[in-house]
Amino acid sequence: MEKKENIVMFPFMAQGHIIPFLALALEIQKKRGCTITFVNTPLNIKKLRSSLPPNTSIRLVEIPFNSSDHGLPPNTENTNALPYPLIFRFIEASLSLKLPFRKLISELIAEQNGHLPLCLVVDMFFGWSVEIAHEFGVSHAIFVGGGGFGMACYYSLWTNMPHLGADSDEFTLPDFPEASKIHVTQLPENLRLADGNDPFAVFLKKVFPEWLNSDGLLVNTVGELDKIGLMYFRRKIGRPVWPVGPVLLSMENHAGAGKVPGITPDPCNKWLDSKPLNSVLYICFGSQNTISESQMMQLATALEVSGKYFIWVVRPPTGFDINSEFKAEEWLPQGFEQRIQDQKRGLLVHKWAPQVEILSHKSISAFLSHCGWNSVLEALSHGVPIIGWPMAADQFSNVVLLEKEVGVCVEVARGPRCEVKHEDIVKKIELVMNDTEKGKEMRRKAHEVRDIIKDAIRDEEGFKGSSMKAMDEFFSAALSRREKTKLEQEN
Ligand code: UDP
Repeated sequence: MEKKENIVMFPFMAQGHIIPFLALALEIQKKRGCTITFVNTPLNIKKLRSSLPPNTSIRLVEIPFNSSDHGLPPNTENTNALPYPLIFRFIEASLSLKLPFRKLISELIAEQNGHLPLCLVVDMFFGWSVEIAHEFGVSHAIFVGGGGFGMACYYSLWTNMPHLGADSDEFTLPDFPEASKIHVTQLPENLRLADGNDPFAVFLKKVFPEWLNSDGLLVNTVGELDKIGLMYFRRKIGRPVWPVGPVLLSMENHAGAGKVPGITPDPCNKWLDSKPLNSVLYICFGSQNTISESQMMQLATALEVSGKYFIWVVRPPTGFDINSEFKAEEWLPQGFEQRIQDQKRGLLVHKWAPQVEILSHKSISAFLSHCGWNSVLEALSHGVPIIGWPMAADQFSNVVLLEKEVGVCVEVARGPRCEVKHEDIVKKIELVMNDTEKGKEMRRKAHEVRDIIKDAIRDEEGFKGSSMKAMDEFFSAALSRREKTKLEQEN
């Protein structure tokens, strides 16, 4: 029997990185029949082992890592619950994985009697692994879990520091003029404060240029929707860029990826079943972000004033322990929870909701989102327009793409500290959810985008979507690289 191809995958140790990698692993395994060697540090592997869906041929492999060697608290193997300054130390500490990763690859090849894995697919922070892949003659690709445009802005911002003009709040990215001007309020907080010499900037200025040596970039996006960002990377790194998205975890696998298994889907679904078609606003700021106390008050007031149905995933506001009890009487208007319950108007879900299931419900009309890329893909896959409230990282640029290029979003506020008035939130909710010209146009676009996404991942006789073609191209490039290595070894 012919041996199955093996792909080695190695995400950075954070849920936001592990999850898209796992989604890609499951996709490749299902559609291409490959085996996957999924590498991570012991505690992450342990967590994955207890939660992977049955019948996967994903082989989980541990790589040693001792956080105490890097001045980190013992057993720190994930960014979960790490205070902000320590996150950068943790990222820097990941550089120490280079030697153990080399050893692991060498042992893997020996175990397969010299048969090479098809490709090493690694995290955007692990560009250093190119050297290892090429030493053994194996193909190497970086998998970017974010969108093309958002990641292009992020890459450009960090590699062109310092970027703020002396006397202007707006600037153009020197190597990405196609992107619209960036306003200082669209910079994530760590970028706004960075001067190019801070540890994260120094780290990224080292690892981002390493992408140029990789054999290509796999991006979790859809080619038709994200042209400018993909063009940036094609120009910048001069290597193939394969938009293979959306690669998303199915509902069942979400909790399996180690997320807080929150409430069971039933209460939300049942509640949504009782509401009219296209009538509910879903509000969620992703897996890590939350808003300030005053923003929470304004948002709650806006929800009452707007009179719309809503599901809101609430967490303690910024500055409070995310795992602490939610104090509705302190953080929400007086009697809010009782009123919305009595009027059957809203559902507050604490910490974690079954987002994919909610977004797929026919009663959902719009999504007020922080525009993390997974949330964006999940909304667009279901044709749901977005009210954007970006908080960090590439989310600000994701909003620009969605609003200016794709036309399925309006921005309502920026960041976890901005001052926001409930009247303005109400206006945006009404603009999108009411039968306004803009609202109708956004819904039409969102449906169009949903169909584009469906087509991109279609693989039927006589029709292959763009993401499927990109995946084919990635596989042929990896196969040719291995043929080349074989020939070199034979000569
Ligand atoms: N998510 C969820 N329920 C929640 C909050 C988040 O299922 O209450 C999932 C969401 O469906 C998405 C992921 O967590 O898959 C969040 O990823 P995203 O890239 O949107 O944002 P991040 O959390 O990385 O900021």
